[in-house]
Amino acid sequence: MDIACVGGGPANLYFSILMKLADPAREITVYERNPAGSTYGWGVTFWEDMLLALHGSDPESARAIVAGSVSWDSWAAHIHDRSTVILEHAEEGLGIGRRELLAILAERARSLGVRVEYEREITGQDELAGADLIVAGDGAGSVLRERHAAHFGTEVTTGRNPYVWLGTTKVFDAFTFAFTETEHGWIWCYGYAYGADRSTCVIECFPETWRGLGLHEANEADTLALLEKLFADILDGHPLIGRGQAEGGARWLNFRTLTNRTWHRGNLVLLGDAAHTTHYSIGAGTALALGDAAYLANALHNAPGLPDALKRYERERMAAIRSTQRAARYSARWYENLPRYIGLPPLQMLTLLGRRHSPLLSRIPPRLYYGAGWLGSQVARVVVPGR
Ligand SMILES: Cc1cc2nc3c(=O)[nH]c(=O)nc-3n(C[C@H](O)[C@H](O)[C@H](O)COP(=O)(O)OP(=O)(O)OC[C@H]3O[C@@H](n4cnc5c(N)ncnc54)[C@H](O)[C@@H]3O)c2cc1C
Repeated sequence: MDIACVGGGPANLYFSILMKLADPAREITVYERNPAGSTYGWGVTFWEDMLLALHGSDPESARAIVAGSVSWDSWAAHIHDRSTVILEHAEEGLGIGRRELLAILAERARSLGVRVEYEREITGQDELAGADLIVAGDGAGSVLRERHAAHFGTEVTTGRNPYVWLGTTKVFDAFTFAFTETEHGWIWCYGYAYGADRSTCVIECFPETWRGLGLHEANEADTLALLEKLFADILDGHPLIGRGQAEGGARWLNFRTLTNRTWHRGNLVLLGDAAHTTHYSIGAGTALALGDAAYLANALHNAPGLPDALKRYERERMAAIRSTQRAARYSARWYENLPRYIGLPPLQMLTLLGRRHSPLLSRIPPRLYYGAGWLGSQVARVVVPGR
């Protein structure tokens, strides 16, 4: 079986690795439109469950990913000038630079015999006529999917709040949240380390705040200067880093949650963000993309033919990610409803931030939810400095 993978993101690189491990004789080519080493985004988080799954599928790339990551096991939340709350020994998280992750996966794929062709943009399936299977791992804006949008039943919901994905030279010890009140409303950020000298910062606010602060018309330098001032408490004098004017500057976006009714059409199958996106605030998109790769590889090995394998992949994977997609929707809504939580005592606010994926939280008054006793042991680990 000849396989053409369109897009050299985490989904397709990992899929190509798993397919080669299972059958080295397969011809697999990954086509990536960008040059090697160039990518959008900064660091991505992942959690122990993903690590276990990676070790189970390919211990060699899992070890390289762990070696290239940094970890934390506490949270810190700075709530304007009211207080800082630290949650110690929370769930352990890891961060890795997107560039490092892609380099590790591409290197592993190549060592197994996968052809990885950079600077090769695919605009239609006809360019890949000889392939038995075409895997569209070309991200949320997938061209291969959009050509058949009616067949795939693509639906997009656009989030209300603008956000921007930045880097900083400040290395956060904990997964750090900061909520800042301005005369135009709240603006918040979360940051986490992903290397010895870098962290990611994702900044979000209400559209009214964004316009009120003039961020809708500011250039990159002015945007970064204003944000550095607003988040001075957590940055400790370190700069925020954008993408530079050559790459379009610090781009504010509204997150697009994308779903598809079906994930395959003939020998074309969707993988990762091309198939579904989940709000960034739960830090799961990359893990889901890698999980898709494992499910698709597994279905291809175990089903009797391609049509059955693609149906099985779609059925099993759609079911497996449903709860994460739901959690992401509730998490996005938590931030959109920030005024509901921001006035709570800081300790309660951070605890409910940790529960933002809960379907119940949006239906029950926050104080009642907090007081109901379901949060038990987590509250006991909260420390409020200076109190
Ligand atoms: C602000 C933000 C923060 C995030 N944080 C996290 C996080 O902490 N943890 C996490 O797990 N996930 C996070 N994510 C999500 C994560 O980045 C994506 O879910 C993940 O990258 C999806 O992987 P993918 O391989 O499906 O697609 P992508 O990573 O988008 O890769 C697609 C690739 O296809 C290439 N391509 C596109 N079209 C073509 C074409 N026509 N021909 C050839 N190549 C093409 C692109 O250049 C790209 O390299 C975050 C996302 C955002 C927006």
